[in-house]
Amino acid sequence: MISARDDLGSLPLLAAKEVAALAAAGFLTALEVLDHLPKRYEDRRRFDRFPNQATPAAVCLRGMVIDSSKRHFGRGGGFYEAIVMDGAGGVFGSGKITCRWFNMPFIHKLVATGQQVVVYGKVKDNNGRLIIDHPEFEILREDDEENESIHLERIVPIYRNVAGLAQRRLREIMHLLLLQSDPPTLAGTFAVDPDSPRAGALKEVHFPASLEQANAARRRFALEEFFGIQLNVAWRRSRHQEQTGRVLGKRTAMLGAFYQNLPFDLTEAQKRSIREIIADMRERRPMNRLLQGDVGSGKTFVAMAAMLLAIDSGCQAALMAPTQILAEQHYLTFRRWLEPIGVRVALRTGNRDEANHLELGGEAQMIIGTHALLYDDTLFRDLGLVVIDEQHKFGVAQRASLIRRGVVPDVLVMTATPIPRTLTMTIYGDLDVSLLDEKPPGRGKIITAVRTGAKQSDVTRFVKEQLSGGRQAYLVYPLVEESETLKVESATEAFKKWRKRLSPHEVGLIHGKLRPEEKEEVMRRFREGHTAALVATTVIEVGVDVPNASVMILHHAERFGLAQLHQLRGRIGRGGHKGYCVLLTDGKNPEAMEKLKVLEQSSDGFEIAEADLRLRGPGDVLGTMQSGLSDLRFVEFLADTALLREARELADHVLAEDPHLDGIHRALRPLLQQDGMTDPTASA
Ligand code: ADP
Ligand code: MG
Repeated sequence: MISARDDLGSLPLLAAKEVAALAAAGFLTALEVLDHLPKRYEDRRRFDRFPNQATPAAVCLRGMVIDSSKRHFGRGGGFYEAIVMDGAGGVFGSGKITCRWFNMPFIHKLVATGQQVVVYGKVKDNNGRLIIDHPEFEILREDDEENESIHLERIVPIYRNVAGLAQRRLREIMHLLLLQSDPPTLAGTFAVDPDSPRAGALKEVHFPASLEQANAARRRFALEEFFGIQLNVAWRRSRHQEQTGRVLGKRTAMLGAFYQNLPFDLTEAQKRSIREIIADMRERRPMNRLLQGDVGSGKTFVAMAAMLLAIDSGCQAALMAPTQILAEQHYLTFRRWLEPIGVRVALRTGNRDEANHLELGGEAQMIIGTHALLYDDTLFRDLGLVVIDEQHKFGVAQRASLIRRGVVPDVLVMTATPIPRTLTMTIYGDLDVSLLDEKPPGRGKIITAVRTGAKQSDVTRFVKEQLSGGRQAYLVYPLVEESETLKVESATEAFKKWRKRLSPHEVGLIHGKLRPEEKEEVMRRFREGHTAALVATTVIEVGVDVPNASVMILHHAERFGLAQLHQLRGRIGRGGHKGYCVLLTDGKNPEAMEKLKVLEQSSDGFEIAEADLRLRGPGDVLGTMQSGLSDLRFVEFLADTALLREARELADHVLAEDPHLDGIHRALRPLLQQDGMTDPTASA
């Protein structure tokens, strides 16, 4: 027996090359390898029939390679092709499938005529030929049909690839490690379910007797994982509730004056959120609230109302935005609405400091800025409220860092990323939530269209028409400069062309590499309507608000993420005009087309977020949110809502029994540190 916690290198079971491959994938111990759960299973007691037409879902086939060859097309391009014939047990049927691999020069060393194989993939019909491109495949051996085989005649685990290890070998390694590991050393961090020992669950999840058993075991690991997160969240929440803040929001004179000046009514959702905020601010316990609302739902005015309540009680309020462009824009909006009622607003970004007391005629009451706010101790005499805009662009640690300075201020976090509910409970589980589920009235409808192979002259004509009608347009590109590796037109190149095409209309260019003053000037000219069209990269993704801009042409749309495209599209349709969002793409990648079609069909941020999660998986989606949750291995976010609830109750229960988490603090420490929080026992 070995200890599952020992270094893999010290085990005689594995070759050095294998240990190295596993280490490169991040697995250093047997326990870590075994935590790499199967991504799916194949029931190899019964294979699918060879289809005689394209299949909507992947099929799992067993057969023999009867022919294979390298094919070339054009310069350097080529693919490898293998024809697999129905032949379970040597009885040849008539089914035939062609498997193709593109750009995989070494594949011919693996696949050869005469081999028995299992292939898995979606079958398509290419002029009568049935083809699977890039199938997952596995070569069978003669002894695989014997009784104890882990590769055939049973439910077989399929893992996400580990570079340098064949699927088959990985499965063997899992089997070996399970057999050889001393069960107590397979125990996990949290004993979530005493009735289901972890060692047993590991066996069941890797080599299940039935799919039901596999699923039950997987849920057990997901629960364990959720429990870790929820305990962390419950801990943060309980710490927060122990803190004392200030009672704010009793005076509402300024808020009243602000309402009087507004040319429109707030939406019911805005009013409801403001009421919830007032109630929080009046408590002695500091507010810790999330304001969640899709792009264009009017979060800024809710923030303004909250900040007015704070300064009416005599303290300062700060608004932190993720980009300088956005901070500048908020600054202008705030001055526009608040200076008439006598509020002193200052701007503080890394590049500019407008916290000029002389100019303001007194100390700043509201300070708008970027994360530069975090590092300036001189700004705040008495900070009562912090609003963090577009939270998903900040790390959780940054949030904690601003909150930790000095007296505990009220905190309002705003996000436009409509994340599925399960995710909200994980990432923001320690916050109370207000939801802006309603858009201000009088918004123009946005028409979204995916176009493949569109003619430039048509696109130009369309944009020109719109500009001549008085509208403005965004022309968005994924890159600033031409890249050597990608044949994608950059914003800088495109800018030159668009200037000619759209003449005499003025065209601007904005991207992240401009100096801050330059960006500010470009945005000013666009906002004031001098510039008719703006060639831009994703720097305009968050928050930019120019209601007269109603056209967006997205070039190489396949290169953007779904959530990002939704955010970008949120820049138009903010005024009363009908909006047009055109997604230009080459149409070559079917997955990208599927992604873009989602936008054609939906303008609902939550629906889009769920589609994003489904298409990309939580790792990627969470990764871009810098949430520190991208390492989650077991959880299936869309399916596991009930489990998450269970984990949350469990965590609350544990915390109630053991408020300082003495029992498990050691295990928890890495989790808490990851969020920039302190060791619970140190402050207890
Ligand atoms: P978000 O930050 O949620 O994307 P904003 O706060 O930038 O949205 O608001 C989007 C646009 O809607 C702005 O032009 C704003 O002036 C306008 N707006 C906000 N609330 C209302 C309202 N209640 N009625 C009409 N227009 C509104
Ligand atoms: Mg906003």
